[in-house]
Amino acid sequence: MGNDSLKYISTRGYQEKLEFHDVIFEGLAPDGGLYIPETWPRLDNDTIKSFNKKTYQEIAFNVISPYVDKSLPSKSLKTIINKAYSEFDNSEITPISKLNDNYYLLELYHGPTFAFKDVAMQFIGQLMSYYLNQDNKYINILGATSGDTGAAAIEGFKDIKSSKIFILHPYNKISEVQRKFMTTVKSDNVHNIAVKGSFDDCQIIIKEIFSDYEYKKQKNLTAVNSINWARIMCQIVYYFYALSRLKNNNEKVIFSVPTGNFGDILAGYIAKNMGLAIDMLNIATNENDILTRTLESGSHKLKSVKSTLSPSIDIQISSNFERLLYDITKNSEYITTIMNDLKNLNSYQLSNSITDKIKESFCSHTVTESEVKMLIKDTYNQHNIVIDPHTAVGLGSAKKCKNIYDLIIVLSTAHPAKFKDTVSSVINDISFIPTKIEKMMNFDEKLIILDNDVQLVKNFITDNTV
Ligand SMILES: *Cc1c(COP(=O)(O)O)cnc(C)c1O
Repeated sequence: MGNDSLKYISTRGYQEKLEFHDVIFEGLAPDGGLYIPETWPRLDNDTIKSFNKKTYQEIAFNVISPYVDKSLPSKSLKTIINKAYSEFDNSEITPISKLNDNYYLLELYHGPTFAFKDVAMQFIGQLMSYYLNQDNKYINILGATSGDTGAAAIEGFKDIKSSKIFILHPYNKISEVQRKFMTTVKSDNVHNIAVKGSFDDCQIIIKEIFSDYEYKKQKNLTAVNSINWARIMCQIVYYFYALSRLKNNNEKVIFSVPTGNFGDILAGYIAKNMGLAIDMLNIATNENDILTRTLESGSHKLKSVKSTLSPSIDIQISSNFERLLYDITKNSEYITTIMNDLKNLNSYQLSNSITDKIKESFCSHTVTESEVKMLIKDTYNQHNIVIDPHTAVGLGSAKKCKNIYDLIIVLSTAHPAKFKDTVSSVINDISFIPTKIEKMMNFDEKLIILDNDVQLVKNFITDNTV
């Protein structure tokens, strides 16, 4: 298998195309764009049908193979997949729970840090380690987290000797459990940086550092936030998995995805482009509703970030939306123009034809804070299932869709214990908290707190790399 002809291009038109091996280690393209495959590989219907008899790992092999080339032979890909999912606490990897005949939860939180980011990050750790050993190289990983990415990245790389990892998080703006998943990891190659600012400020710092191309080269800097293509690629798998287990005939299907950086839901859009029968993708937002507003009016306008009960999607800058816009327009000059508008004017305006095209595949609804609490409570009372605030956003948003669907699949992106204070105060129960998390709360923490200043962060990185 493998696909030597598939190349990756920048959304902003940079001339040089990359191969799989390089796209994994590049963050942003030199022109500031994101890498995307030139075309979407398709899986034929028989292959997709056969998934109902396959394990998650086997489905992953089928879905990922078309994106990789000869630098990663089939046998090695299989080994990487098996290692990546060996730390999950459920043999189905992403099991499904049923709320009623229409509503299902796709549980994406059975990895080591209890959120869906593990699905990709466990894989990427193994994948990069494979290439680094082969190339005899060393990398410095740099990422920003709104809470869950960083923990998953640290877990994915803590044992990888050929790497150091630097993770920025917004100081005091993530939950205690989220923070402790990162700061209690003992490995020497892990550095946590708390930035006195928002998640968007952290992302801007990362983007600035990566835009210093010389520095990036000199330090072998690598990104693992959701702009990294491998992240998206791994997330395509569970859409195929979900329908292999739930779809029998021609049911109308909607996935509802609590959305921040637009990586997770983009993976669903790609699954659809690869041939999976998805009718609609619902962009579920909390009160940071920039994407909901964009679909309504075409006006993509930044506001200040609001802290909510679902902090992992407290975002205004939704980086992967650029990949969708490129795929829909195939016009890198246009993308460059609107992204400059976003940077300079804090907004851009999409034409009706573009928003119409988006709305062929996507809808979007926003969920308020009080609705989140009510949904957590109702789901507990009616189904005896404890959901986290992000899953509640996904569920509440799906309930606002006017069209009728046979299968409404909500991506359950985090274990409720990751937001235990919010959840336990709503349901007055703490029995859902696993002992692993209880124990972790008492471990020592290691982190450095820095002002919101690119140079300070860069200096810290310089001082702590070879
Ligand atoms: C990261 C995250 C999201 C949002 O995913 P994006 O790919 O950034 O849209 C949703 N829920 C949880 C729990 C997350 O950690």
